[in-house]
Amino acid sequence: MNAKVHSYESFATLDGEGIRFAVFLKGCNLRCLCCHNPDTWNGEGIIIDSHELVKKIERYRPYFSEKGGVTLSGGEPLLQGAFVEEFFKLLKEKGISTALDTSGSIIDKHTDNILKFTDHLLLDIKQADNESYMKFAGCTLDSVLDFLEKANKHKVRTWIRTVIIPGINDREEFVEKIFRITQKYPCVEKYELLPFHTMGFSKYEKLKIDNPLKGYKALSAERLDELNSYLKKLNTAE
Ligand code: SF4
Repeated sequence: MNAKVHSYESFATLDGEGIRFAVFLKGCNLRCLCCHNPDTWNGEGIIIDSHELVKKIERYRPYFSEKGGVTLSGGEPLLQGAFVEEFFKLLKEKGISTALDTSGSIIDKHTDNILKFTDHLLLDIKQADNESYMKFAGCTLDSVLDFLEKANKHKVRTWIRTVIIPGINDREEFVEKIFRITQKYPCVEKYELLPFHTMGFSKYEKLKIDNPLKGYKALSAERLDELNSYLKKLNTAE
C-alpha cells in the first residue's frame, strides 16, 4: 500500500515519547486557523510503499531507546486510512511502538483497526463547542469526541493538546472547559497547552495562501506559565 508523504524527521523529540521517526503525510481535510503546516495540505509528495517505509525506519531502530518509535502525523494521516492500518500493523509485527498525531476528525472503516495497532494517540482539542470548532477548524467538537471515545474503547494512551492563541483562547475558563472534557475519558494521560507561534507564517507567504491569523502574536512564555499553573491547580483539585 502506497502513501503520499510530505516529509520525514528521523530524530523527532516533540512528537510523542522518546526519540521518534516522524512521518508527515500529505493532505488535510481541515483548515485550522492556527495551522503551521499549510505546505502539507495539497500535492502528491513522496510516494512510498508501506513495506519500503518500514525497512527504511528499521535502520533507525537503534536510536529509538526504550520509549521511542514511530509517529505518523501530517497533514491529516487518517485521510490515508488504508495505508495507516497496514503500516501500523507492520510496525507492531516488528515490535516498533506506534504513535498517531491526528485531528480526530475522520472515522471510517479503518478507524478501529488503526486504533488496535496504535500505542499512543496525540489528539488536538481545538475549541470547546461545536460552533467555534467549525469556524476554527472545519469540523465539530462532537466528531473529535467520537474519535476520542473510540480511542478510549481501545484503551489507547492519549495526550490531548490545545494550541493557545492570544486573543482567541488564552483564557482560564477555556482551559478549564477542555480540561473537564478530557476528565471524562480514562484513556487520557495528559492534557497539554501548546503555545501559538508564528514560525509557520512564512509558509503562507511562500505558498501565496491567505493567513487568517496574520497580525496575531505568539503566546508569551509568561502567559503560558500562568495558564499551566492554572491547569496544575485543576489537576491537583481532582
Ligand atoms: S489538522 Fe493539522 S495539518 Fe490540518 S489544518 Fe489543522 S493544524 Fe493544519
